[in-house]
Amino acid sequence: MAMTFAEIAPFVSSRLLHLTLMPTEQCNFRCVYCYEDFAAGEMARPVIDAVKALLARRIAGLEMLAVNWFGGEPLLAWPVIEEIQSFAAGLASDHPRVRFGGEMTTNGSLLTRPRFERLLTLGVRRFQVSLDGTREAHDATRLRRSGGGSFDAIWRNLLALQEVSASFEVLLRLHITRENPPAVERLLGEIAREFAGDPRFPVVLKAVRRFGGPQDAELPVLSPAEEGAVLGRLSARATALGFPDRQDVFAQPRILQGCYASALGSYVVRASGELAKCPVALGHPNNHIGRLLPDGRLDLDSSKAVGWLRGALKGDRESLRCPTKGWADDGSREGAPPLVRIGSSP
Ligand code: SF4
Repeated sequence: MAMTFAEIAPFVSSRLLHLTLMPTEQCNFRCVYCYEDFAAGEMARPVIDAVKALLARRIAGLEMLAVNWFGGEPLLAWPVIEEIQSFAAGLASDHPRVRFGGEMTTNGSLLTRPRFERLLTLGVRRFQVSLDGTREAHDATRLRRSGGGSFDAIWRNLLALQEVSASFEVLLRLHITRENPPAVERLLGEIAREFAGDPRFPVVLKAVRRFGGPQDAELPVLSPAEEGAVLGRLSARATALGFPDRQDVFAQPRILQGCYASALGSYVVRASGELAKCPVALGHPNNHIGRLLPDGRLDLDSSKAVGWLRGALKGDRESLRCPTKGWADDGSREGAPPLVRIGSSP
């Protein structure tokens, strides 16, 4: 079915600004499936000031401002987050016509209750935290950089967040491999016991895939045939435990019916100030689209930037869902295996 103007219009709107900010590209974890190279450090002062200048330049012309914190582990750079998010929240309160929302993808180890409550006051209300099963299974794959497991710290934080009486969403993303389905099933039972009936803690099941990390070859990923059966069984278990069906959570983002990278007004600002479109395929040549200038203007390579808009320009749903489909790793666009994209970092 052909796309309607109403479906396409948000993707080409200049009144939407969706920034995915990487306040640091370092992480305190070394998950076995991670694809990041941890080459860049914390966002430096000139880049912080440039992000604030960008927000100040654009705010008056916006209908929607979304700030999405990503990393590495973003909370390692807490002062950067607090400064930029406070600035954005202040601009939004001066421009009440602008819909303003914040999100964060975090490993959860540093998401303490005081920080969480501070983030809520600054407009960050949606969070995503990943778990790989109960303690033993989780600690085998989501390792700390310093060695050792991470489950206890994350779980302690999640339990503390539940005590907060406010409106928010902490999406629990459960990663599935060939080895951990029994542990994920046990974890579903634990979550049902501890967070029963609290709709602020939805659950989503995601199979681990090979995304270009150094340990890809050894990852016990499910084959496509196994994946459907295993996820189906775990989904049925989740439903039986009373979880609502939220498997569409990444397929149906709330602002745009497709991937943010397909939108004219969506950019990733890396810690270095480089601009990208997709926060996952960071090494792809087509994803190096320009730089954020000190005065907040975007210095874009338009020949690359326009390629991300082909879904909207052609009215093509598949490209809107993932604009990297059909792009080879060397930057050519046809006749080679597609890059794979997920909704957000693991
Ligand atoms: S997957 Fe996320 S939490 Fe794990 S090492 Fe990579 S960036 Fe850190």
